[in-house]
Amino acid sequence: MTLIHQTAHEIHKALKEKKVSSRELVASFYHRIDSLENDLNAYNTLTKEEALTQADLADQAIAKGDSIGPLTGIPIGLKDNLCMEGIRTTCSSKILENFVPPYDATVVSKLRKAGAVFLGKTNLDEFAMGSSTENSAYEATKNPWDLSCIPGGSSGGSAAAVAADEAVLAIGSDTGGSIRQPAACCGVVGLKPTYGRVSRYGLIAFASSLDQIGPLTHDVTDAATLFQVIGGHDPRDSTSADVPMPDLSGQLNEGVRGMRLGIPKEYFIEGIDSEVNAAIEKAIDEYRRLGAKIQEISLPHTGYAVATYYILATAEASSNLSRYDGVRYGHRSEDPANLLELYTKTRREGFGPEVKRRIMIGTHALSSGYYDAYYKKAQQVRTLIKNDFDEAFKSVDAILTPTAPTPAFRFGEKTADPLQMYLSDIFTISVNLAGIPAISLPCGFTSGGLPIGLQIIGKPFSEAEILQFAYAYEQQHDFHKRRPKIGK
Ligand code: GLN
Repeated sequence: MTLIHQTAHEIHKALKEKKVSSRELVASFYHRIDSLENDLNAYNTLTKEEALTQADLADQAIAKGDSIGPLTGIPIGLKDNLCMEGIRTTCSSKILENFVPPYDATVVSKLRKAGAVFLGKTNLDEFAMGSSTENSAYEATKNPWDLSCIPGGSSGGSAAAVAADEAVLAIGSDTGGSIRQPAACCGVVGLKPTYGRVSRYGLIAFASSLDQIGPLTHDVTDAATLFQVIGGHDPRDSTSADVPMPDLSGQLNEGVRGMRLGIPKEYFIEGIDSEVNAAIEKAIDEYRRLGAKIQEISLPHTGYAVATYYILATAEASSNLSRYDGVRYGHRSEDPANLLELYTKTRREGFGPEVKRRIMIGTHALSSGYYDAYYKKAQQVRTLIKNDFDEAFKSVDAILTPTAPTPAFRFGEKTADPLQMYLSDIFTISVNLAGIPAISLPCGFTSGGLPIGLQIIGKPFSEAEILQFAYAYEQQHDFHKRRPKIGK
């Protein structure tokens, strides 16, 4: 079945024309998953029974001649930090090893309503803290383009599943780059929407002022389709934005002629991989050829972004993760001598080293005596970073940068030095601090055959524009059509 290598819009056509049934499709995907998972480990949990029931519902709708939506009967992977009713949701943590949520996240219920078929829950760094999936409490996911390399993170399972055709589409979450960096590492498209655009209800919180949910897909058209379905206001999330969703179907191919694209001089730093640099330069030239006006801009506070993020994200995480105390959710330590020991033993046993490190950093940054020096200062710098973007967007319509400074690195290469790992997100983190949208799309390959990602950053709520800019570039290439040589 070659359909498994295709996009959602291609498969949608085949389903509508009854060339294939959703049940057949789902069976083919599980067949592929069964044959590849020993190597890849993209999924934590498979939801076969549920998927076949959903597929049958889709097939019934198609047989009846109902008008079906673009996701009806389409197999999708869900990052394992999204609650799905009755299905184990682990966050790739031991502390939630047996946690079964009693409700669906808003994104999950929207996808259900749209007729999508859930194949399973994908692997991530524990509580979405990391850039490689090596922090998963289970096994790391491998990069389908080179099994000795990481797939990126934290949504590494989602990105690898799409890249290896273990799902047509996947959902990820992005707090500092966790959709875009794995998309770049695995050669797929990843969109981080504006903060508040997609409901966080039912997303297990990491850093609530930064977390956003978004799509990982083979191409820009599928990213637009998936975003259209999951976006929009939700009264169940108090930070959800009450801004109408654009209709994305008509706008994608309007091109970039006359558009002003900014190149931030602070993003072309020493230490950036030379093949990544060359691919981005080439992409910039192509935009110029397509009629865009390219101009250099400055985002002067870029150098503070990583430090600012690692104070704010850890502070919020230390507060969010205090709910795991062995009383209400997940793992509970056996035979504690008293209540305090229940808390400490449960948390010591349940959390992995990176999560503990972040809880300690965050608690320290929030403690009295250090609050002003760290947390408050970081909040102030966050505003400066946001102001940089506001200023830049007075003269440009979007900003082009590399998504990550290097292609996918090897397992173990950065685990010994957390700071090296944190620097993988140097180009993605500012976008979360500013709350604005950005997309990563494939823009070439290294001589070793690893994908390279181009990032396009937009103004608040300008997802339609950045998708349009990305689409214009994608039309010039076949990068998004290439598949790793894995399986049949
Ligand atoms: N890699 C970053 C971190 O470790 C971002 C993670 C994310 O976006 N969830 O925090």
